[in-house]
Amino acid sequence: MDFGQLFNTLLNSLPNQVWYFVPLFILLPILRTPWFKGKAGEAMVNIAAKLFLDKTRYHLIKNVTLPTEDGTTQIDHIIVSRYGVFVVETKNMKGWIFGNAKQRYWTQKIFKHSQKFQNPLHQNYKHVKTLQSLLGLSDEQVFSVVVFVGDSTFKTPMPENVTHGGGYVRFIKAQTEPRLSDVEVQKVNEAIESGRLAATFRTQREHVAHVKEIAAKKRSEPRCPKCQDEMVKRTVKRGENIGKEFYGCKAFPKCRGMVGASLLQ
Ligand SMILES: [Zn+2]
Repeated sequence: MDFGQLFNTLLNSLPNQVWYFVPLFILLPILRTPWFKGKAGEAMVNIAAKLFLDKTRYHLIKNVTLPTEDGTTQIDHIIVSRYGVFVVETKNMKGWIFGNAKQRYWTQKIFKHSQKFQNPLHQNYKHVKTLQSLLGLSDEQVFSVVVFVGDSTFKTPMPENVTHGGGYVRFIKAQTEPRLSDVEVQKVNEAIESGRLAATFRTQREHVAHVKEIAAKKRSEPRCPKCQDEMVKRTVKRGENIGKEFYGCKAFPKCRGMVGASLLQ
């Protein structure tokens, strides 16, 4: 019996059921990756929303791409309802979590190993503000919600909008005061789902740049040395300085303040 034959005999003597475990051995390393755990966490948030939030009153929108100053950012979940627009940030982390609303960095501790990470409320604040300005919603109409998924424990008291697992559903359901009209709910849903946000953002940004430009121009213009009023550019109409420019007070002839008059001599 050579080695090949021996190998075949061994394989044939294995019970058939063993083969069922082969896919599992291939899958296990995948199941352990942060990528999969992240996906599983997001899926948990979806499932909780589908199970516990009434579909006729809460509308779940997944993976919304939001424009930023330097590109785009992704919001995992947005839940739109008459009770507000909930912007959900998912954190897939294990260990002990320390933090509060104001701290810039929070701490994750696994055994003796500590690691800092950006305060997820601050991270989500940017999402909330961008969305709010794009949709024209007030502070009272948009909620920031942070959901920790995975095997973690809060070791400091957390604000009520920082939740663990399905707990975020409780936070959403606790908001019972109507904050958007049915028309507003529909408009918000349409604006997000249509993907028009990026276009709106560009228009807004151009507008802001334009306003800034005007303000900067105003700042660079001189102020009247006599009364601090605005000045206007004028041209000498006659005499030996004809054609020369200077700034004269806007309140002329009441005020005869001038800038650049030295050029006229
Ligand atoms: Zn003046």
